[in-house]
Amino acid sequence: MLKQDRYRLFVEYFSEHQPNPVTELNYTNPYELLVAVILSAQCTDKRINQVTPALFDRFPNPESLALATPEEVFTYIRSVSYPNNKAKHLVGMAKMLIGEFKGEVPSDLNELQKMPGVGRKTANVIASVIYDIPAMAVDTHVFRVANRIGLTSNARTPLAVEKQLMKHLPRHTIAIAHHWLILHGRYICIARRPKCEICPLTSFCKYYEQVMSKKVVRSVKVSG
Ligand code: SF4
Repeated sequence: MLKQDRYRLFVEYFSEHQPNPVTELNYTNPYELLVAVILSAQCTDKRINQVTPALFDRFPNPESLALATPEEVFTYIRSVSYPNNKAKHLVGMAKMLIGEFKGEVPSDLNELQKMPGVGRKTANVIASVIYDIPAMAVDTHVFRVANRIGLTSNARTPLAVEKQLMKHLPRHTIAIAHHWLILHGRYICIARRPKCEICPLTSFCKYYEQVMSKKVVRSVKVSG
């Protein structure tokens, strides 16, 4: 199957069955999403959603967070991964939001990445989710699922995956395709053992195609 056909079928399927996917992180404004995404690195959304209510209650805006010490922020986020570093990043991020961006979360990818704790992936999430900019954030799920389906080829880094997806996806689907791939990777195309038996994408998935063709070869050898 041609790669362009895999893209077409991928977009057709999810446009019909998941037209409005959303992030599973809880937030009510751009500042809260930025905090939640910084916290979510190497951690689960479920865990982040457990700590953010108290954190947002104590630090409801960048002004209050900028005045905090990392030690105090740590007490609210101690159960997430890398709490020491993340506490420092959050306070540094809030200070920069106030000092350089008038308290507003910027939409520009380069400006976003100036802030502590904000790498390319986090910047892409903010740009696409908050500002609806066609940006593709590549996390472990996006990386794995895009590769298995065959939307990418020989893409060995997140940046390579991002570039290939950006090149082939229709522009209006880029921001939501990020959610399609994450949710599919989280619940069906899981890392250790993909649940192909219940997956609706088998008809155009490259990984499935390869697994099935190996099974056919094996059964022919056994019966021969
Ligand atoms: S068919 Fe299997 S490998 Fe392919 S996307 Fe579905 S779960 Fe993943």
